[in-house]
Amino acid sequence: MDYQAILNEIVDEARAFLGEGRVASYIPALANVDPRKLGVAIETVNGEQFAVGDATERFSIQSISKVFNLVLGIRVAGDDLWQRVGVEPSGNRFNSLVQLEYENGIPRNPFINAGALVVTDVLLSHLREPNAEMLSFVESLRCSSIYYDEEVAVSERETGFTNVALVNFMKAHGNISNSVDDVLNVYFHQCSIEMSCEGLARSFLFLANGGVVPGSGERILTSSQTKRVNAIMLTCGFYDEAGQFAYRVGLPGKSGVGGGIVAVIPDVLSIAVWSPELNPRGNSLVGIHVLEQFTTLTGMSIF
Ligand code: GLU
Repeated sequence: MDYQAILNEIVDEARAFLGEGRVASYIPALANVDPRKLGVAIETVNGEQFAVGDATERFSIQSISKVFNLVLGIRVAGDDLWQRVGVEPSGNRFNSLVQLEYENGIPRNPFINAGALVVTDVLLSHLREPNAEMLSFVESLRCSSIYYDEEVAVSERETGFTNVALVNFMKAHGNISNSVDDVLNVYFHQCSIEMSCEGLARSFLFLANGGVVPGSGERILTSSQTKRVNAIMLTCGFYDEAGQFAYRVGLPGKSGVGGGIVAVIPDVLSIAVWSPELNPRGNSLVGIHVLEQFTTLTGMSIF
């Protein structure tokens, strides 16, 4: 399959859709991003790489970090994690408080904010330096020089009143063990990680490879745990648009409000797209289009 030719064709055609979405505006660092940026990168389990457009430029990965958070959480806590957070799609906004109230402080899944905050709390209980260990974990996925954008982390803290409410509410229900401030500090840093499409495709490749990092051979998750993370990405990875994404693209993946999306085709490849303009549900408008075209033209999806 000539992935490079397919990517070139898709990206050329996708540029026509630029201007239809809106960049996230809740913090200056995201509001000021050039909305016309567009990059795609592919990494195959056989070690091939393909890229087009702004694929090496770093951007704020935002909620894509919830996958790293979950994987680390599974590594440190194993199945005990699932007593604190569920695996059902929420069908609600990513930062909904209402659902948490009638479900007694147990978040629906680890990819809505409440769920990621609980997993972050688990990391705090098991790791001495969760912020540093998160960076070295992502670096162990063959990504060099991972860093936090401190300006973004500070802005997240200054504007993240709903996240503050979520942690406090779950603490009141006994589902947060550490201090509210510590949980928020680690969570907001995760949101501020900067990575490129190339780095994201590379770091997610173990999820397309049964839990093993191709190249280094390091096992990150068992094959069963990998199946579960991919299943949660498919059902919960796109806010309250996970059904649409599965319908249009047919791959497990995760998006962030920085306009990034990463998806995996088990046993074949990982693919990352960045286009900062979002649709009304908070997912990259052009990013979804690119991935839909990719699975349509190649005939490759999990279905
Ligand atoms: N950083 C934002 C928050 O926690 C949203 C991240 C995202 O959904 O990508 O509210």
